[in-house]
Amino acid sequence: DKKMKSIDKRIDEYHFKIKDSSDLKAESGVFDTPTLKTLYTLASKGIITAMGGVVSTGKEADVFHAIGENGKELAIKIYRINTSDFQKMQDYLIGDPRFSNVRGTKKDIVFAWTKKEQRNLERAAEVGVKVPEPMISERNILIMEFIGKDGVSAPRLKDVRLEEPQPIYDTVADYMRLLYQKAKLVHGDLSEYNILLYEERPVIIDMGQAVMLEHPMAREFLARDVKNIVRYFKKSGVKCSEEELSAHILKK
Ligand code: ATP
Ligand code: MN
Repeated sequence: DKKMKSIDKRIDEYHFKIKDSSDLKAESGVFDTPTLKTLYTLASKGIITAMGGVVSTGKEADVFHAIGENGKELAIKIYRINTSDFQKMQDYLIGDPRFSNVRGTKKDIVFAWTKKEQRNLERAAEVGVKVPEPMISERNILIMEFIGKDGVSAPRLKDVRLEEPQPIYDTVADYMRLLYQKAKLVHGDLSEYNILLYEERPVIIDMGQAVMLEHPMAREFLARDVKNIVRYFKKSGVKCSEEELSAHILKK
């Protein structure tokens, strides 16, 4: 159909199809050898059929656009092994019962972190929080649903001026409550930077640091998330307060 054609055209324009590992080698300025090998393994399984351009370069991870089975658009988040916030990663992992015995090299910590983001996204999706659906993770690579169209990701709340902020706020507040009450998770880095606006609805992203409620810092992280969200939505014209949002999240 028309949509498939437009995706094929995009691939011809500036994506490259993965037929063998030499296609990926052409991009070796971007990827290190182990990452290349992992990408190639994913490609040979048919999970990735074409790699696209970079969507975002961060301190801890880069995000790429890609095409998967049936022309489905994918986001590929690749964590850097030599991440500068490695100590932070360890602190967030230690208090988490799912990952409390993760020890070892930087590499092991980053691999655990990648798995942690996948698990967190799965838990969030299970309780009805709109997040990019995670598909698979391998080593430092997480493959998930692409939030956006034709290689252009949906804007962050940070990048838009909301005409009607109230329903967006209400949904974010409900998502925070669902995460806390049902998924037993606190996002831990929630702000207008980690919420995309797609089809006029908020989508929560970047859940690597999200922790279970057992984590010793969970309540502090929640308080910080609440503060960020209230600050942003107040500025957007919503009448809200930290007390009210906390109560909404915590009430039984
Ligand atoms: P870290 O804090 O670990 O460095 P980050 O902030 O670099 O992570 P994310 O916030 O997950 O990583 O992603 C960075 C950007 O990439 C987002 O702001 C968004 O623009 C884009 N992005 C991430 N995931 C997706 C997705 N599933 N679909 C579309 N765009 C995405
Ligand atoms: Mn982010």
